[in-house]
Amino acid sequence: MSFKALWVTETKDGKFERTIIDRYIDDLPAGEMVIRVHYSSLNYKDAMSATGNKGITRQFPHTPGIDAAGVVEISRNEQFAVGDEVIVTGYDLGMNTCGGYGQYIRVPASWVVKKPETLSLKECMIIGTAGFTAACAAYKMELMKLLPEAGPIVVTGATGGVGSMAVAILSKAGYEVIAVSGKSNALEYLQHLGAARMEDRSFVNDISGKALIKPQWAGAVDTVGGNTLATLLKGCRHEGCVVSTGLVSSPKLDTTVYPFILNGINLLGVGSAGTPMPVRLAIWQKLSYDWNIKDKLSVIGKEVTLEELNTTYIDAILEGKIMGRIVVNLTTL
Ligand code: NDP
Repeated sequence: MSFKALWVTETKDGKFERTIIDRYIDDLPAGEMVIRVHYSSLNYKDAMSATGNKGITRQFPHTPGIDAAGVVEISRNEQFAVGDEVIVTGYDLGMNTCGGYGQYIRVPASWVVKKPETLSLKECMIIGTAGFTAACAAYKMELMKLLPEAGPIVVTGATGGVGSMAVAILSKAGYEVIAVSGKSNALEYLQHLGAARMEDRSFVNDISGKALIKPQWAGAVDTVGGNTLATLLKGCRHEGCVVSTGLVSSPKLDTTVYPFILNGINLLGVGSAGTPMPVRLAIWQKLSYDWNIKDKLSVIGKEVTLEELNTTYIDAILEGKIMGRIVVNLTTL
């Protein structure tokens, strides 16, 4: 049986082209589960794969899409039945395994999570890897017992996917959130998500050369890296937590040991793709109940077709132009 999928190919002169083609289930990689994809989403990593970044996807042609939500069509695993609504985020989906930008995926059962009852398939994909990553950051802060009373939490790249979701989840969890954004028109959006205030990117770009600066926040969720991450460490209050999740500005970190040995700062990391299944289930449970931000998801998510994803949104996310999350409807092709 054929289905539609985004197809990224490499030309002889090393350029990458994208088209929507017909593919066949028999051509998908081996796996116990065939899932009919209803929704996927757009993450920064998807755009890198879709434009030929070999650090993400080694071999082309390829169908990207690190997130997928849909209905089980074939199951060779007793935990899942035909017709179950399920989600797959992370692992190797969309990297070197054909991903959610196709109407079908075939994956190992060990990657599959049953859809939480409180969320629809579309809502799960508005959350997607970006929201799951933000939730991993909040989960780690909770494990470190960083309570809302400790003080404000800075979120950088606040209008992006991870950033928007971090603002909404942390404010739902009771934290005062300082949203840092380069978009001067984003105040209303960020306040709607629950931010207490918005600051420009210069707020977390210290160029004094000092090892420590006035402590102004109890923690941070950083999507930016580079000097932003270094500043977040320098200006964090005693025993605070800074969670590194991304690198949109730089993968480098030039710091000293002073934030750690004088202020006891905890630098935490999130690598959401490889989150072990028991932790993954605990985090989806949090997203379903304590951190359920259903009321914010319609503001964060914008639904597009696979065609619109291809022609407009993949480039837009690479240019940092997207506010919130792009969710791709694969049922209307
Ligand atoms: P988005 O493109 O949706 O968001 C990134 C945001 O960062 C932009 O919207 C913009 O927000 C801000 N930004 C862009 N360029 C710069 C810059 N040069 N300097 C400072 N801020 C900038 O991406 P995602 O939210 O999907 O991903 C964010 C990062 O997190 C990426 O590096 C991605 O690879 C990483 N990631 C990591 C995961 C993990 O498991 N660790 C999982 C998912 C993503 P604004 O205009 O509001 O400042």
